[in-house]
Amino acid sequence: MNYESAAQALSSFDKRVEQMRAYSHAMGVMALDASTAAPRLSAEGRGRTYAVLSQVRYELMADPENGALLAYLESHEAELSQIQKRAVQLFRRQYEQLRRIPMAEYVDYEVLLNDSQAKWEEAKNKADFSIFQPYLEKIVGYNRKFAVYYDAEKAPYDALLNEYERGLTMETLDKFFGALKDALVPLIAKVKAAPAIDSSFLSRFYPASQQEKLSYLLMDALDIDKDRCTLAETEHPFTTEFNNHDVRITTHYYENALASSMYSVIHEGGHAIYELDCDDRYNYTLLSGGVSMGIHESQSRFYENILGRSRPFLSYLFPKVKELFPEQLQDVDEELFYRAVNKAEPSLVRTEADELTYCMHIIIRYELEKRLLDGSLAVRDLPEAWNRLYRDYLGIDVPNDKAGCLQDSHWSNGLIGYFPSYALGSAYGAQMLACMERDLGDIWPRVSQGDLSHVRSWLKEHIHKYASLYEPDELFRRACGEFDPKYYIDYLEEKYSRLYNLK
Ligand code: ZN
Repeated sequence: MNYESAAQALSSFDKRVEQMRAYSHAMGVMALDASTAAPRLSAEGRGRTYAVLSQVRYELMADPENGALLAYLESHEAELSQIQKRAVQLFRRQYEQLRRIPMAEYVDYEVLLNDSQAKWEEAKNKADFSIFQPYLEKIVGYNRKFAVYYDAEKAPYDALLNEYERGLTMETLDKFFGALKDALVPLIAKVKAAPAIDSSFLSRFYPASQQEKLSYLLMDALDIDKDRCTLAETEHPFTTEFNNHDVRITTHYYENALASSMYSVIHEGGHAIYELDCDDRYNYTLLSGGVSMGIHESQSRFYENILGRSRPFLSYLFPKVKELFPEQLQDVDEELFYRAVNKAEPSLVRTEADELTYCMHIIIRYELEKRLLDGSLAVRDLPEAWNRLYRDYLGIDVPNDKAGCLQDSHWSNGLIGYFPSYALGSAYGAQMLACMERDLGDIWPRVSQGDLSHVRSWLKEHIHKYASLYEPDELFRRACGEFDPKYYIDYLEEKYSRLYNLK
């Protein structure tokens, strides 16, 4: 089709975006329903509908007419607003992504991932890496090839990193992780040698019904608008969003682990606040919602750790928690509670790691991925390399591959280059805290009164309201200047030295 004006092309563009969005919305609601409310035998019916919807969505996105439309709009860029320009850029990216990988390879890879998932599960259950090894070899091979399609100019691993967090490179990560490792390895060793914190009271019996009351109390404490955000129960906690009036968070209650759901709700609450505070003007456009996984984790981990595990916030919260669990917390005071939820201990499993040791798990995965991609590590040697790094960095022995290199599902899903954004988000959060304190002065007296509004306003003003207008690295730079891991290292050193009386 020939376009007569930018206005006409934009109207066609908006209609296409609106259609794709509607299919994504419907599929998202179905996925949410599947993990929260749908009965066990609903999978077949849902699968049929899902297949139809996803095919229509694919055809809408891959429509060759999109290419002509995008080319027209790109050649009339001067007539577009900043938001429209960004929308065209994001649409172009999605469109090219679909076309970059030859169809036959794409299909073969999907089949491989499907088979790999089952083999990974089997290998993990049997704690036998050799079952998964040939599949991972193929996955790494495909990712090397895809990296060239993504960006032939870049080193393969850089091209993959860029797919998950725009602008992220090995150069940035080498500096970041190098500094982190130098500081954290000795700090973790000191914490390990210090007297352990007794957190045994956290494993007493905490009925799920009472924990649910705590979840709503926490949502109120975070000032999450329940007319725009609801809570459900799932196997693994997550956040999903459709627009800034419809955000869902989930949690999982373990009756012998009080801190588990408590901190899941605060973590997912941080994701939710980011989505809820995106400016209305981006709703229903391609710019809607948080911009990247790294920025998103910076918000969730800020709420979970920097705020949620801080002494001032807990001095506000603890009496309320104790009211809900008077018997279980009878002999526990605020100080003990604070120490227990911050207890650090080198452990085998990333998802259960504490704030101090968490990033070491990510560094280990990063170093291994980098070597798998540049060919200096063969997949068959992965378990040995994994175990050696756990010994060197965390001082623990890995008993088997189940607790070792088979623990995460990411690689079997083809996600190589995804892990670093978890650590990056944590460090972004610490630097945001420093910027916030520079702007607002001492934020903590109000936090200890349960008032988080100044913190949230700062985050909204510098991060949340922009939704996906800027690339993540640019958004961060605008908010905080150049990224510097020093803030995160200082934050951890200070917090854990105090907690464990290391000085
Ligand atoms: Zn998260």
